[in-house]
Amino acid sequence: MKSIPENEQCRMSISDSSSPDVPGICLGVLVREYASLSQLDKQYFGFPGEILMRMLKLVILPLIISSMITGVAALDSEVSGKIGLRAVIYYFSTTVIAVILGIILVMTIKPGVSQTADNIDRTGTTPNVTTVDTLLDLVRNMFPENLVQACFQQVRDLEHPSSIPLSTHTEVNITKEYMIIGSYSDGINVLGLIVFCVAFGLVIGKMGEKGRILLEFFDALNEATMKLVQIIMCYMPIGILFLIAAKIIEVEDWDIFKKMGLYMVTVLSGLAIHATICLPLIFFIIVRKNPYTFTLGMAQALVTALMISSSSATLPITFRCAEENNRIDKRITRFVLPVGATINMDGTALYEAVAAIFIAQLNDFTLDVGQIVTISITATVASIGAAGVPNAGLVTMVIVLTAVGLPANDVTLIVAVDWLLDRFRTMINVLGDAYGAGIVQKLSRRELERMDLMSDVDVANPF
Ligand code: ASP
Repeated sequence: MKSIPENEQCRMSISDSSSPDVPGICLGVLVREYASLSQLDKQYFGFPGEILMRMLKLVILPLIISSMITGVAALDSEVSGKIGLRAVIYYFSTTVIAVILGIILVMTIKPGVSQTADNIDRTGTTPNVTTVDTLLDLVRNMFPENLVQACFQQVRDLEHPSSIPLSTHTEVNITKEYMIIGSYSDGINVLGLIVFCVAFGLVIGKMGEKGRILLEFFDALNEATMKLVQIIMCYMPIGILFLIAAKIIEVEDWDIFKKMGLYMVTVLSGLAIHATICLPLIFFIIVRKNPYTFTLGMAQALVTALMISSSSATLPITFRCAEENNRIDKRITRFVLPVGATINMDGTALYEAVAAIFIAQLNDFTLDVGQIVTISITATVASIGAAGVPNAGLVTMVIVLTAVGLPANDVTLIVAVDWLLDRFRTMINVLGDAYGAGIVQKLSRRELERMDLMSDVDVANPF
């Protein structure tokens, strides 16, 4: 009897017909209709989903460290510099395209013109973030003063606000949730670790025989982590079923979707156009392969992102899909995906531009060309500054609003629907990272071939 290959085990694809999102919605609706659950019961009900999130977050740290160090050490500094530059150019240009697309749509559809801000509830308290704070936090976080500390989230003690310096990161209070901006992701200073790992990987790569021991260690760590990811994937259908069902039970105000309908349609259509036309077109022009087959290969990661709203926590699955389904070289994914999950957020950038202009329309605030350009720039910066965690984009949007003189407090107008939009923009963030890896691989083919680094990849037909 033919045995299932190891890497095919547990491939209970969440993108195939047994996809747990539809059963999750049905379960949620049924429980909502027929059972009256207390707050505590709801918490118990969401427990299997919570465990999935915890497992995914658990592997982020070893995955980022091992993949970045081995990825960089395997390339010489010239090649890694070229790959890095190509990745950054791709990140930047696609983010700008997403922002422009969002602006065109929101100016055409005008979702906020028919309503006034007073029709929509304002909840929460005034956020307090400035562009300079965010940029400084971003750069500061690139250079953590303590590597061990960089692996832990420094949540400011709100009882004693001075216990951690304000500049370490900026925090905003929206509807009683404390969220972090400035590249902290699920308890890890991802950007700081990435900078350290790139430097460390470059040094190891130049150390010759001595460096090889370390390289082998991190390579083994990477392999072991990916095996853990494989085990986690066995649990994913159950975890996702309960994650989605618990969310359906939790939502209190479905009417808000009617009020915010046109705004949501604008954001969702922008994300859809970016995912099905803009990114595939760029991919096709450069890679000359079918982009939709590529997207299909990423389906598992995309569904995960949709369910958990975190590109960082989706990273383990993004790696697996990119390497195994789309056959992208590990040395590219190890380099491009972790950085992309931290700074490349097309979906978030598009959303920030749309949301800012929507809020301006709600307030009858006419934006001039200069202010629209300011929105484009700040939306791009804000998306880079947003961590790959749920709702991070909502927080960094305060920067965009402040930059054009809109009341920062108005971010609370769109809080109620953010949990849903966040899922879709996270999906596009993950897709953008994956396309980036495919494109960078194609552009770096010559260097990789020269270095004979693509031994297990069909160079002529990578996808
Ligand atoms: N949740 C998004 C992500 O993880 C960030 C955002 O809030 O836009 O990519």
